[in-house]
Amino acid sequence: MKDTISQAIKATGAVAVGFAKASEVDPKVISDYQAWINGGNHAGMDYLARHALLKSHPRYVLEDAATVISIAYSYAPAVWRDPSLPVIAAYAYGDDYHDVLRRKLEPLVAEFKQSFGGNWRICIDSAPLAERYWAVKSGIGRRGLNGSIIVDGYGSYIFLVEILTSLSITPDEPSEAFCARCGACVKACPQKALRNDGTIDCRRCLNYLTIEHRGDWEGEMLEAMQTPTAKHTLFGCDICQRLCPHNHDVPPTAIPEFTPRQGIIDYTKKEIKSMTQAEFSTLFKGSPIKRTKLAGILRNASNLHP
Ligand code: SF4
Ligand code: SF4
Repeated sequence: MKDTISQAIKATGAVAVGFAKASEVDPKVISDYQAWINGGNHAGMDYLARHALLKSHPRYVLEDAATVISIAYSYAPAVWRDPSLPVIAAYAYGDDYHDVLRRKLEPLVAEFKQSFGGNWRICIDSAPLAERYWAVKSGIGRRGLNGSIIVDGYGSYIFLVEILTSLSITPDEPSEAFCARCGACVKACPQKALRNDGTIDCRRCLNYLTIEHRGDWEGEMLEAMQTPTAKHTLFGCDICQRLCPHNHDVPPTAIPEFTPRQGIIDYTKKEIKSMTQAEFSTLFKGSPIKRTKLAGILRNASNLHP
């Protein structure tokens, strides 16, 4: 059964699949998470504060969970936006992974259910799971100091997905490895958002400020958006990943939906500033960029260097 499941998931384009026993998450991981929340590092993402208890055991997501299947899909781009253009994070070059991966996995999980029985739940950033913890536990990746999970041979340009099942499946060996710990990511973060202990202050991180934050920036967030890099950022930031040695020479994604769209690779500052709702909806249909809505993109565009 395990091989059948693993092979079927890999056939959807996954670069790594691993299995872990669904058990209590190491209490130290949860207490570190709580301390990070207590320090206000989650910025305006209040839902994260409510997740500490829920992340402590997969049974809060699937009541009779016995196994966590952790899966990685690569989105490493074959081409990048020209450096002269305002930055868009590479994960947003193609189609929205939530939709793409759910379309691939739902029929598969229905087949698993029919063949093997049990309860199943697919989690694509859609449930309070400690997903990086489970990626390490199931042996698919190592932790990076930049907060990412690194899959050997594919780097950290990956989307993580979990499938929970009530079936007991032999677990894989957890990953014991860490990244090369070169420190380049911490040194290079232009926002001083990434700390030496691998934690991120979202109040300064461009991924939060330009994607997740709703409304105007105020106070320390407004100040954080005045750095030269912030003034060249339209949607997200890859700096702490781009210079990571684990990401050098990784193969580009083999999933057609994640291949960069020409309209997003070429998108210019001039086009953004005059964009109408209809143009936004057409250009970003099915793209992660629609997450900010037109108001978010216009806010980000108004902060760009003239
Ligand atoms: S994504 Fe950018 S701003 Fe955020 S921690 Fe990494 S380098 Fe810093
Ligand atoms: S840049 Fe260096 S320290 Fe940072 S995640 Fe990569 S290997 Fe680790």
